[in-house]
Amino acid sequence: MMKGVEKYGVRIPFTPAGPFEIVWNVTYQCNLRCKHCYENAGQKRPELSTDEAKQVLDKIAKLSGIGLPALSFSGGEPLARKDFFELAAYARKRVGYLSIASNGTLITRDNAKRIKDAGVDYVEISIDGATPGVHDSFRGIPGAFERATDGVKNSLEEGVDTCIATVLHRDNINELNKLIGLSKQLGTMFMHFNYIPTGRAKAHVELDLTPNQRYEVLETIGKEIVGLYMQKKEEEIKWGKSDIKVDKFFSTCPQYASVTKELSQRQGGKFMVEAHYAAKQGVENVANFLGGCGAGRLYCCLEPNGDIKPCVFFQTSKETVLGNMLKDSFEEIWDTNPLLWKLRIREDLEDCSVDGKKVGCGECPDKYICGGCRARAYSYFDGNVKMPDVGCIHNEPLWEKISNSRK
Ligand code: SF4
Ligand code: SF4
Repeated sequence: MMKGVEKYGVRIPFTPAGPFEIVWNVTYQCNLRCKHCYENAGQKRPELSTDEAKQVLDKIAKLSGIGLPALSFSGGEPLARKDFFELAAYARKRVGYLSIASNGTLITRDNAKRIKDAGVDYVEISIDGATPGVHDSFRGIPGAFERATDGVKNSLEEGVDTCIATVLHRDNINELNKLIGLSKQLGTMFMHFNYIPTGRAKAHVELDLTPNQRYEVLETIGKEIVGLYMQKKEEEIKWGKSDIKVDKFFSTCPQYASVTKELSQRQGGKFMVEAHYAAKQGVENVANFLGGCGAGRLYCCLEPNGDIKPCVFFQTSKETVLGNMLKDSFEEIWDTNPLLWKLRIREDLEDCSVDGKKVGCGECPDKYICGGCRARAYSYFDGNVKMPDVGCIHNEPLWEKISNSRK
């Protein structure tokens, strides 16, 4: 943290000297054909060899002179790479925390054991519906639901922290409560993934939730985590301690910070979920510092060929590919890339005029704890990352204007 302050000064939100987390889409290969895949997986494109991937991991171990706290392998399906376990074990020796995001269908009992043995700390498995009908129709392969839920059970049996992850959109929003029920029944965490029209999902923009639907989703998930926080607080007052684990219900929507803050305030608590994943008590200053959307600031992504992007949800383009891990200096990119600096600065977020009123993230009092999803702005406003996140309840008039113009 100090190195970030030394290099870039005290900024709100904070910019560290290197990312806290990298998500590496380590392969384009996938055994499923999901309608909403951000990576457009399944098409053959050049990927790094085992040796090249290890070179990238060696660089990651020394990133910006400090290393990398957390690495997540995603894809495509990371387990579709033949060398996956070799790379995972190699990575584990070089980063503080290792996770995988998987469709779960290849996590057999044997592979779950290999995941554990490779030192993977956390497994996130995508499930789109609480029944085979909904899940399989989105994932494009019959039987995917059963295999994914087996993957969840196998990971849990190995004692690895496991999470059910769901991309919610208009065709599965009604599954939310059942999915929360499934995660409670199985004993996993639950992560809501924000639907962003990018990759294959770009062709299904009509599936994007309205701001109101998204708010309801965040409220539903938020009530679960705030409920756990309140229970824990009560137990601590009564018995001086509590074993309740609060960090269980998350969302990749940056608005989750303001929704959980509001829910907790209604019950007299001081709590919010910062930067997607850290649930904390009474720490608005820290939340301002961490600053919601972490694209190109707290976090960035790598492609299977080693290309560097600010976030997995940015459409791949000349502007969003910042360089390549094997050919370029990561530190120089992190220090100087203009797109990264655009993403890090909140003061010049742009607003739009709707019926004579200013609408957008620029005017919003929560812009430092949230900042809006910049990948959504990029997708909806032809690459302008400064524009409003039209998925937010505060920006509903702009959403309406855009939706009406499409009719
Ligand atoms: S208006 Fe923008 S910054 Fe404010 S809560 Fe909504 S998305 Fe976040
Ligand atoms: S652009 Fe920001 S808010 Fe959107 S998914 Fe990426 S990190 Fe999250």
